[in-house]
Amino acid sequence: MFPASTVLGYPRIGPRRELKRALESYWDGRSTRAELERAGAGLRARTWRRLAELGLEGLPSNTFSLYDHVLDTAVLLGAVPERYREAADPYFAMARGTQGLAPLRMTKWFDTNYHHLVPEIGPDTVFKLDAAKPLGEVREARALGYDTRPVLLGPVTFLLLASALDRLDDVLGCYEELLGELAAEGVAWVQLDEPALVADRTPEELAAVRAAYDRLGGARARPGLFVASYFGDLGEALPVLAATPVEAIGLDLVRGGLPAADLTGKTVVAGVVSGRDVWRTPPERALATLAAIRADRVAVSTSCSLLHVPYDVDAEPELDPALRARLAFAEQKVAEVVALAGALAGGGLPASAPAAPSVALPGPVPAEGRSPYPVRAAAQAAHLGLPPLPTTTIGSFPQTGELRAARAAVAAGTLAPEEYDRRVEAEIERVIRLQERLGLDVLVHGEPERNDMVQYFAEHLDGFAVTRNGWVQSYGSRCTRPPILHGDVRRPEPITVRWASYARSLTDKPVKGMLTGPVTIVAWSFRRDDLPLRDVVFQVAEAVRAEVADLEAAGVPIVQVDEPALRELLPLRRAAQEEYLEWAVAAYRRATSGAGDRTQIHTHLCYSDADQILAAIDGLDADVTTIESARSGARILGAVAGFGRGLGPGVYDIHSPRVPSAEEVEELLRRALRALPAGRVWVNPDCGLKTRTYEQVEAALANVVTAARRLRAELPRP
Ligand SMILES: [Zn+2]
Repeated sequence: MFPASTVLGYPRIGPRRELKRALESYWDGRSTRAELERAGAGLRARTWRRLAELGLEGLPSNTFSLYDHVLDTAVLLGAVPERYREAADPYFAMARGTQGLAPLRMTKWFDTNYHHLVPEIGPDTVFKLDAAKPLGEVREARALGYDTRPVLLGPVTFLLLASALDRLDDVLGCYEELLGELAAEGVAWVQLDEPALVADRTPEELAAVRAAYDRLGGARARPGLFVASYFGDLGEALPVLAATPVEAIGLDLVRGGLPAADLTGKTVVAGVVSGRDVWRTPPERALATLAAIRADRVAVSTSCSLLHVPYDVDAEPELDPALRARLAFAEQKVAEVVALAGALAGGGLPASAPAAPSVALPGPVPAEGRSPYPVRAAAQAAHLGLPPLPTTTIGSFPQTGELRAARAAVAAGTLAPEEYDRRVEAEIERVIRLQERLGLDVLVHGEPERNDMVQYFAEHLDGFAVTRNGWVQSYGSRCTRPPILHGDVRRPEPITVRWASYARSLTDKPVKGMLTGPVTIVAWSFRRDDLPLRDVVFQVAEAVRAEVADLEAAGVPIVQVDEPALRELLPLRRAAQEEYLEWAVAAYRRATSGAGDRTQIHTHLCYSDADQILAAIDGLDADVTTIESARSGARILGAVAGFGRGLGPGVYDIHSPRVPSAEEVEELLRRALRALPAGRVWVNPDCGLKTRTYEQVEAALANVVTAARRLRAELPRP
């Protein structure tokens, strides 16, 4: 029988980011692989112990990963591309690359801010089971006294992520073999995650789901099969799955609705506690949902893995008590699952959270029209006096360890804020002088004062709270602390004007002001679950709009408003995408349309597959859009013919420590000039320079400027 309470997964970075430190120590050669493995085992033991202490019945295993669970699945199935096999550590060579070897491609995990590696599977990939990790974790937990349920990425989702569903038959052989080994180990249940089934699927893909689970269900010796879906509603995939021999189906009942299908004969693992936000679960609502499910047995669970929330509210003593009383992080969510399972079995109802304060959201406010682009472009050309093929950067310059240490010292009270400000100013001056020396045309202040492009704004806006230990894994050892958007968002005073004005005072060249757009600020924060997302974004847009106005009033001639998360919030189902893009674009325009014609608005987006939403990017109506292109082989240029405004396809891949030669940059620029009129092409790197060293940045930007000057000399005189 399936246990009465469980979670689909748990954070793995460690409550104090222990895994991050262990990884970085190993990568720097300060510790061995064995020491790294021991650190991982310590974190797994801690998690199982804690989940058991909290009273959870069904403990998951194999939810831990040294880097990424999709990469782990590729290793499990033997899908390690040939070129990595000779590396000193093939696993981390695939994850991070080596001196001579690029890493696997990385992309976002559905609509979250977690990034997974994209398995490389071709027609010649030979699959071969390597069950060491899931079997090892089952044994490790058993040695501690816990029987666990191994969690695996399901075959259909794994292959869809790799665009290789045609290899299903071959992969299923490995899964069958694994099920046999787990059964021999005495494992009672296995969890197969199939989040890809909550997006639109073709009839062929649904047929593959049916074929996969008919075949795995028919395996001779196997544990009970629990197929988990999350991030939305299974829709037409639910009856398909229900018709297979799987014993248990996991449903996301926070984002998805009650199942229309009668699931008699199955166990429903009901995800009624959200794994995507930080709010306490209203117990009456959850119990009503649980009571309405028609199935043989109902188990209580989280809507998805708790990977996407921080560990523990109790690690945040500095939060306002009224807000704290409404919060639940991973530990608290596990306690909620246990309490709801108790209530479902006839126990008492858990206590409700205090009500959220009411807020006054503006709703969608129309953007008043700036003049049409040609009128603005003429005004900006006269005002800015830039050469053709103007050169610029995306905004951030390398963040030095000294600045990060200074920021920590201010927070700890050991450095006076005035002294910190002086150091920020010194860094801005250094960055301005460097850009002048390199000969860039539009300068930036380099953002030395910012810890993060969203957290920095959240710290300066009312209605947000920031945490001290609320880390959430973004990829590998990288974590972010998403701010908590809990109330009315207001901008008490200008945020960036002081630093932009200081930069401007140092140079005669135009300086760009740098802001984060309303969609991205909300996307990378935990937001209220009781308010319409659209209206929250529009409220944040008002704060950004006020900041644009203040920058303009301070004489800053160019304002860049970044929206790297525009695509992330795109609904997984196509039917909802158009409405989302419409209001997201409208909110961006509300934030930027107060600017006068001669103020140039830039935007920056960070992804190679922007071609999917190019019409929406065009709709943002920014005067200049900079976008990743070098990393993805200038693929975007095939789609930009109709793009009507300035465009800067990146000519320097900042994700790699490699310095591109002037000739390489020139070649990328020539390709841009074949796709776009010369008057609309900008010259810039793919993204911000924050993660690079000054040495790399200086050499690369010098080559970028050289290439732009060579091509400029070839252009016909106007
Ligand atoms: Zn970027």
